Amino acid sequence: MHVAVLPSPGMGHLIPLFELAKRLAVFNHEIHVSFLVINTDEDNPPARDQYLYSTALPPGLGIVNIPPINVSDVVRDDMLLVTRISVMAEEGFKSLKSVLIELGKPEALVIDLFCTGAFKICSELSIPVYSFCTPSAAFLTFSLYLPTLDREVEGEFIDLPEPISIPGCSPIRPDDLMDPARDRKNEQYKWIFLHISRLPLAAGILVNTWEDLELVPLKAIREHSFFLQLPTPPVYPVGPLIKQDELLSSSDEECLTWLDNKPADSVLFIALGSGGTLTTGQLLEIAWGLEMSQQKFIWVLRKPDDADASSTFFNVGSDVNDPKSYLPKGFLEKTRGVGMVVNSWATQVAILRHPSTGGFLSHCGWNSTVESITHGVPIIAWPLYAEQKMNAAMLTEDIGVAVKPMKGPGETVVRREEISRVVRLLMESEEGEIIRSRVKKLRDSARRAVDIGGSSYNSLSCLVEKWKNEGSKP
Ligand code: UDP
Repeated sequence: MHVAVLPSPGMGHLIPLFELAKRLAVFNHEIHVSFLVINTDEDNPPARDQYLYSTALPPGLGIVNIPPINVSDVVRDDMLLVTRISVMAEEGFKSLKSVLIELGKPEALVIDLFCTGAFKICSELSIPVYSFCTPSAAFLTFSLYLPTLDREVEGEFIDLPEPISIPGCSPIRPDDLMDPARDRKNEQYKWIFLHISRLPLAAGILVNTWEDLELVPLKAIREHSFFLQLPTPPVYPVGPLIKQDELLSSSDEECLTWLDNKPADSVLFIALGSGGTLTTGQLLEIAWGLEMSQQKFIWVLRKPDDADASSTFFNVGSDVNDPKSYLPKGFLEKTRGVGMVVNSWATQVAILRHPSTGGFLSHCGWNSTVESITHGVPIIAWPLYAEQKMNAAMLTEDIGVAVKPMKGPGETVVRREEISRVVRLLMESEEGEIIRSRVKKLRDSARRAVDIGGSSYNSLSCLVEKWKNEGSKP
């Protein structure tokens, strides 16, 4: 049996789909998996090649590069994230049909949420398509409900006076809405709406989550399966799917050796996903807040950007520069021995896995969230872009594994005193201990979910059985 997997550009999309591809190849040795990579001149992060090519692949998995394309004529500087990803993916699809034919027409194609242009191509080739939702099941419920909201609400969703109620789910405050739904006139709303409207064409929807983590939204999807005009395809929670082995760089080795000499749960890790950058003013406050807190830390640092909070999304790892040029004067000297700074990119999972890591200041991208929970590390929620505010609300209010620092009234940045307060709360208070014990319970549930007979294991088995049965039909 042959299955192909197609992520859209961006590390947060590529990583969970590649992990799915690896798990499928290991899960059932009768499956051959082709992992298709879209290559454009606008999306070429060094971090991607390090991740894809630095370790041996399991037998049965092959990486297939879709012929490189030049997108500089179609991508404009003013395009927001979802538009950019979608336009790049559409260009990549120009050769998708011939690639799939050359591969001998796989029995199924698993696509990322933003790759829905593949539905038409695959229907011409009679290949069933499965969607993979890289964000949470809660995001999926909101997405499935979006066409209803779109019909019923006039004007902007962010101007609604009340939280948005979705059948069977926690209400969403308009302030926490995902970026693409914050401006219905922007092109990225039209793109996300288009992708979501095509979801019923999928033969199934895989989600990087597990039953014990997102019982409520998963139940809501099953019980209210007519969110769209058409029935929702079967949903398969198959997570957590997180990075396993990766070749460590010399700075990763340095971090891990440094962590080896620290007490358990004593170091705060700070990283903002593949795209996240801070404003100049906010970076200064975080630096001095960390220094005030007197807690140990590892900080993945990037040059600040005052205009775009996701400015390294397509080129992460190539923005290496000297942190001294933008850190406050004297910060590195004052925190010597207490903190470490890493330029642009670190092997996050290796750091989260280390027993000395006891907290994660995170932008709450879904992969980072899942990785943190799976390693039992509580979170300081620092959402920046995409659907991260929704994730932060879920982590702090529904699951109780995170704390969120607040801006003072009328302030444009979170002040150093607040940062220091929250860091100390998480790292050394009784309340922090309670949060830590909650996340450790969820960590155990994550392990159970993927073990033989666990909920995500069973979900993946069902899917593989379905593929086998469909593949054996004449
Ligand atoms: N990541 C990493 N090192 C870094 C920053 C990010 O390994 O310095 C990985 C992280 O482990 C996660 C992915 O990049 O797997 C980021 O995905 P997420 O959904 O958290 O955020 P996005 O980048 O999509 O905003």
